[in-house]
Amino acid sequence: MKFSKYVRAVTARMSVLFCAVVIALAIVALMIGYCLILFRDDGPEVMTKALVSVAILPLLLGIPMHYLLIRYARTLSFRTRKLEIKTTKDGLTHCLNQTAFRARVEAYLAAESGNPNRSAALLVLDADKFKLINDTHGHDIGDQVIKLVARTIKSKLRPFDVVGRIGGEEFGVLLHNADMHVTQVIAERIRAAVGAAELKTADGPIRVSISIGAVVFGMDTDYESLFRTADRKLYQAKSDGRDRVELHNRLPDTVAAA
Ligand code: GH3
Ligand code: MG
Ligand code: MG
Repeated sequence: MKFSKYVRAVTARMSVLFCAVVIALAIVALMIGYCLILFRDDGPEVMTKALVSVAILPLLLGIPMHYLLIRYARTLSFRTRKLEIKTTKDGLTHCLNQTAFRARVEAYLAAESGNPNRSAALLVLDADKFKLINDTHGHDIGDQVIKLVARTIKSKLRPFDVVGRIGGEEFGVLLHNADMHVTQVIAERIRAAVGAAELKTADGPIRVSISIGAVVFGMDTDYESLFRTADRKLYQAKSDGRDRVELHNRLPDTVAAA
């Protein structure tokens, strides 16, 4: 969570807590006043007992109960957040997992469906000849290479783009607000950066190239259809020699010209 968001959340909780304390104190003050009027003729012993029962006992019991309640709420929110991370993130790369990535793309399509001028891109990226890396250097080094690829892809994206690990050595990227030119530039940047990145190992540095299939689209579509098109382009990139980007333009003319 960003610091400003955290501060806002803490401030909101403190405000709720402050209101609860003010209300509790007001009720206690009201009860004390009520006792002072009701038991004023019954002598100091009765008055003391009445005051203890309306003021001191509720405070003694209320404060620890309140503390426990807040601790419980904090633990619950912490565990919920951890569970959310576990169910949406890929354990190896910390990118979104396949299900969460698809959900993010679908949510974006739904949110922008009424916007005829919006364009975006879906990229499918796949490390080239990755099996060879596993076979030559072992699965653990293969995992390190997948992590390196994920880090490199993330480093070339804008903060609002979305990346998911959608297969073993396969990633999906959603570029918000991207036309053909932006998509070409970002995809090429990723391709070049992954090809240049090195994993240092005891056997020397390891490199891997990446092939990218992409579709640039308007909002009148769905995930299945976009994925199919991008995957077809990826297949083309692979069969044309790998380490390249293939783009498909599905923008309506009005958007492409804007
Ligand atoms: P291409 O250029 O056509 O994509 O060839 P490739 O060798 O990358 O593709 P292929 O699909 O034949 O091999 C992918 C390999 O990735 C096979 C599988 O063992 C490996 N793999 C899948 N998931 C993981 C993982 O989590 N860790 C590691 N180390 N390897 C994985
Ligand atoms: Mg591959
Ligand atoms: Mg693959």
